[in-house]
Amino acid sequence: MDPFEPYRNEPFLDFGDEATLTSFRRTLGEVAGRLGREYPLVIGGAHVHTEERLDSLDPCFPDRVVGRASMATSEHVEAAFDAAYAALEEWSRRDMADRARHLVKLAAIMRRRHAELAAWEVYEAAKNYLEASADVAEAIDFCEYYAREAMHLSGRARTYDHPGEENTSFYQPMGVGVVIPPWNFLLAIMVGTTVAPVVVGNTVIVKPSPSTPVIAAKFMEMVAEAGFPPGVINLLTGADADIGDALVDHPRTRFINFTGSVATGLRINERAAKLQSGQRWVKRVYLEMGGKDALIVDETADLDLAVQAAVASGFGFQGQKCSAMSRLIVVEDVYDEVLERFVAGVEALRVGPAEENADVAAVINQRQFEKVLGYIETGKVEARLAAGGGRAEAAGPGYYVQPTVFADVPPSATIACEEIFGPVVAVMRAKDFDQALTYANATTYALTGGLISRDRSRLERARREFRVGNLYLNRKITGALVGVQPFGGFDLSGTNSKAGGPDYLRLFTEMKTVTERF
Ligand code: NAD
Repeated sequence: MDPFEPYRNEPFLDFGDEATLTSFRRTLGEVAGRLGREYPLVIGGAHVHTEERLDSLDPCFPDRVVGRASMATSEHVEAAFDAAYAALEEWSRRDMADRARHLVKLAAIMRRRHAELAAWEVYEAAKNYLEASADVAEAIDFCEYYAREAMHLSGRARTYDHPGEENTSFYQPMGVGVVIPPWNFLLAIMVGTTVAPVVVGNTVIVKPSPSTPVIAAKFMEMVAEAGFPPGVINLLTGADADIGDALVDHPRTRFINFTGSVATGLRINERAAKLQSGQRWVKRVYLEMGGKDALIVDETADLDLAVQAAVASGFGFQGQKCSAMSRLIVVEDVYDEVLERFVAGVEALRVGPAEENADVAAVINQRQFEKVLGYIETGKVEARLAAGGGRAEAAGPGYYVQPTVFADVPPSATIACEEIFGPVVAVMRAKDFDQALTYANATTYALTGGLISRDRSRLERARREFRVGNLYLNRKITGALVGVQPFGGFDLSGTNSKAGGPDYLRLFTEMKTVTERF
């Protein structure tokens, strides 16, 4: 059906291979020599430099400037809408295969620059080597996958015949959208949430997180190289206070594709609902938001697997994944043993600079650092501290937080209910599997979750009753693969748009039906 070779997930760089590791260290050195440069806004393909600059800092060495991004104002917002609408006319009329080839080309460029892009992520977001490579691989996957999925939307929709008439239903683009990604999957989510609306014929304005504007600038270099026409993808970096509301409120915004926290998501939802003067449509808003993800371990579980899965799910990328395990719910019979082994696993994690490939590096910025430390203080009042418990000063001058575990956390505790988004895990004791499942389902979030068990009937029950968008049985609960595990939650975790899934592209289209009687 599509003209491309079969889809498969992009492999991560293999850092177990000595040559790959040595080569990556060399790439890190090369990228280090390019830190501190200035990056423009990109509006209609033109580079726009502003006087004021947004400094992107290395979380592990906050006085190291990774790059200096231009800062957009409301004037640039208007110019970006002009450019995106100017590009829309031609781009929206192209063949689907033509647009899809741009994504395949972009994927090829990212594949060639895989190590370099991962190196930028090490500096800009404090990802260790594997986390950085996984993010680049996911960005490539989004391009390759959506290129192929787009071909399924290029023809007629499935409808029945009616005598004497020709009836045709087809999908068409909606218009100009605003893409607002978070900093945590700085390349992957930005790329995925951008190229999906674009491949089906929309044009977009991308507003990345102020914490990670440099990777966004790198993305725009590749967008140009891939041959996207000017104005199809526009980049506005800057402060949310200057341009966030302006983009959301704008009467020419047709849709908003947001990934981030509940607080920001709900604000966007509310503002976008208001009809602005001159606005001719109901804005479509997609919100993929936070999680308070739980892993249940029951008394039948393989405890080696349970501990390994818990450490990886809780502390990979410093716990700053929407899918990260922030609650470990253990059935009483094995509680003490699991807790002891989990704490031992957590205490063995090496905290230090991402560029040295530490297991746990710094959290993203000062604000997040203070927020996480604040939750740790709350945890000390609400529960029993079992590991960590504060700043990891020995690791260096960056925003390092000790991998922290609280034990005997009651289900009503703040640290059992609110998303912390850092290396902090609440361990909860349940008297049996029933109670564990009740605890797991007790938050307003429903993003990821997992169960480690050998009991067939419980695994089946979890399939039905564990209320999360992505449920993992007998493995870690992070690392969803594009095209394999469509990703997105229920409830306050979001609108369940399922990134990397077969229904995703449809969200950025409208269906038109034409009936002709002869
Ligand atoms: P955030 O809500 O602070 O920011 C998200 C994006 O919104 C950023 O681009 C930010 O600059 C922008 N923003 C902030 N205020 C805005 C405003 N007033 N108007 C318009 N845009 C505004 O979230 P974050 O700290 O960047 O990311 C972490 C959050 O993202 C966590 O809650 C995490 O769970 C969530 N997340 C969810 C998923 C998912 O798929 N469900 C994936 C990754 C991250």
